[in-house]
Amino acid sequence: MHELGIAYEILTSARQAIAGREALRVTRLKVRIGRFQNVDRDSLDFAFRALARDETGFENAVLDMEDVEPAFACPDCGARGTLEKIALSCPACGGGNLHVEGADDLVLQSIEAEEGGRE
Ligand SMILES: [Zn+2]
Repeated sequence: MHELGIAYEILTSARQAIAGREALRVTRLKVRIGRFQNVDRDSLDFAFRALARDETGFENAVLDMEDVEPAFACPDCGARGTLEKIALSCPACGGGNLHVEGADDLVLQSIEAEEGGRE
């Protein structure tokens, strides 16, 4: 289950992002996940909760997952669009120089937090 590793990475990034502001209680982490990133959303949510529970400041954090539609651009014919399926060649001209963006993204996009008193 590699979702556990991903959840761990998300938490690590978030911890670095709020470094020095340890009084914050994180309420929501927003991540962008490419459609072709092989991630089981339920497993990731489960893994994230399991880890966040033991993480100071993240006990009540919710993981907000946003699906990213992979975009392609073809330098040969100029076609652009979003991909429904993984493609290695241009859907318009069949050229093999396809540039695809966002397909395997996994980006921590934003962190919502509130000031919280420390016990
Ligand atoms: Zn093309």
